[in-house]
Amino acid sequence: MSNNITNRSPNHNKLIFIMLDGLRYDTAVTQMGYIHHLVEYGKAARYKVRSELPSLSRPLYEVLMTGTPVWRHEIATNQTVRLSHERSLFHLTREQGLTNATASYYWVSELYNSAPFHPAVDRIQLDTDKPIQHGIFYFEDHYPDSHLFADANFLLMQYAPDFLYVHSMNIDDDGHKFSGDSAQYRNRALAADIILASVLPAWMEAGYQIIVTADHGMNNDGNHGGTTDAERHVPLFVISNLVTPGVYEQEVPQLQLAPLACRLLGIAPSEAMQPLSMLEFRPASP
Ligand SMILES: [Zn+2]
Repeated sequence: MSNNITNRSPNHNKLIFIMLDGLRYDTAVTQMGYIHHLVEYGKAARYKVRSELPSLSRPLYEVLMTGTPVWRHEIATNQTVRLSHERSLFHLTREQGLTNATASYYWVSELYNSAPFHPAVDRIQLDTDKPIQHGIFYFEDHYPDSHLFADANFLLMQYAPDFLYVHSMNIDDDGHKFSGDSAQYRNRALAADIILASVLPAWMEAGYQIIVTADHGMNNDGNHGGTTDAERHVPLFVISNLVTPGVYEQEVPQLQLAPLACRLLGIAPSEAMQPLSMLEFRPASP
């Protein structure tokens, strides 16, 4: 990693928020050996998150980025194509003078920068005056996770963002094609873990706080949207000098993710976010 990645805002921390779309909790626990290596050696914390409802992508993207429930933000379906009315982590980081960036599915652009999405003009959005300052957006569910993480690395090298959101889709795609109880789904999660093993050491070395989580899980019918544990339970891994490593068994409400991101960034949460109730914070090391 080049020296390009420096902290340009010394009063704040830098955060990379990785969202692996459609990764259910039990699959993350059994298939992701690298990230559990970090847990075993006291470098990461693992939690079980209970997703908001409905367990659908676009509604939960808004939950993760704004910390507000569906009844409030009203992005209630995947077909609700409009800009968010809430204050997202992109808005908050921009207001604080921080730099943000994302490599994400095009629905993220539709929520925060421009709706509807036009591939010819919206795929690459750099140096914008919109809530997302630097974005690279894909629009096919089989866009390779390997390419997505390369897009993320480009943004890191080029812009040294304080907040980087990385959003993959291949796990969800294979879950729909083959079900949540399939070799293909499990192997895709394993492949994502290998990609994490290839990027996280440099990202940790560069001083980033790191979150790895999912929006929703996947049931054995190859779908999600309902209330079962397979659809609602997703992993949360946190690599941070602010959070005590370990395995925590209590369920974390998904509305905690946005205020957690604010705490890791060192910025104030929005008024709409619930207070942070996770107890495993430790004093920042000097
Ligand atoms: Zn899906």
